[in-house]
Amino acid sequence: MPKVKGCVKTDKGAVALSDYELGDPGPGQALVKMALSTICGSDIHIVDDIDDVPAGMPMGHEAVGVIEAVGDGVDRFKPGDRVVTCCLSSCGSCEQCVDGNLNVCRTFGAPMNLLFGCQGEAYMANGADQSMAIIPDGMSDRQAIFAADIMSTGFGAIERAGDVEGKTVAIFAQGPVGLCVTAAAKYYKAGRIITVESIPERVAMSRQLGADEVFDPDTAVESILEATGGVGAHVAVEALGKQVTFGNCLASTRMGGTISSVGVYGGIEELTVPTDGNFIHRNIVTTLCPAGRERLEHLLGIIESGEVDLEPLLTHEHSLDDIVASYDTFRAHDDGVLKIAIS
Ligand SMILES: [Zn+2]
Ligand SMILES: [Zn+2]
Repeated sequence: MPKVKGCVKTDKGAVALSDYELGDPGPGQALVKMALSTICGSDIHIVDDIDDVPAGMPMGHEAVGVIEAVGDGVDRFKPGDRVVTCCLSSCGSCEQCVDGNLNVCRTFGAPMNLLFGCQGEAYMANGADQSMAIIPDGMSDRQAIFAADIMSTGFGAIERAGDVEGKTVAIFAQGPVGLCVTAAAKYYKAGRIITVESIPERVAMSRQLGADEVFDPDTAVESILEATGGVGAHVAVEALGKQVTFGNCLASTRMGGTISSVGVYGGIEELTVPTDGNFIHRNIVTTLCPAGRERLEHLLGIIESGEVDLEPLLTHEHSLDDIVASYDTFRAHDDGVLKIAIS
């Protein structure tokens, strides 16, 4: 394959549009022509905070596209297939994959089994047979792209908290992942969905996706306690990645309840767990985007059912040529942005 054009990390805090070689797909790999990509909060974290990801790294881990070529050993896919790629690559055969933890696959070296290069004209998927799924006919790229990462992460946050049917779920922060958590709480039939957010566009989207009440972050704990007769929610989800929201989740969850942490604590080296009464007899669970082909197929099935529609999260449409400006818009939360459709 000739050189492709894509977004590359050039320095701490900086990206640029650049040309780079992709080569031909090796064993187990698939070369995918990008049809639609997007920027994730993790991309900002990788560019701004994670020094282990060096300058020159092609960026982006969420995409759908059409397969251009496959390497040896790829049996399930062929050129021309329209696929969504999981943001985490899996081999399907290492100890973690066999145990069902495909998101921490040893072969591809978790946590660096993250896919890179989706914000480019084409990208290379590792472990293709285990890490991609064919998009059903009739489903748009704009619907399917959510399965790549944030839908799986958001739904995972609720699934890790156990059965929420009929229960009160409080979700702290309604960014793109938090909004997917809200959609998941609705899908899994939570009895009451309380979200915590102050940005007007996000408040509106939260209600659209299933929130019964939206509380202001400054008084969220008091509001949740008051709304639950003083006992707190059954489940509180941390979807921001800040100490204060983690503490607020603990303070607004009832005894016997679950704190489900899914926020990326970018730039925070240590998380403090307060040992006061809010710590006793709670479960604390964390989630890293559930991965693998079967997971993708499961999520695509939910989308196909029509019960969950995340497409409204694509608030902006940009050309790949404008990727640097897209990062600025996304990083600054400008203009009501949630997700930017990049093609
Ligand atoms: Zn992501
Ligand atoms: Zn594996």
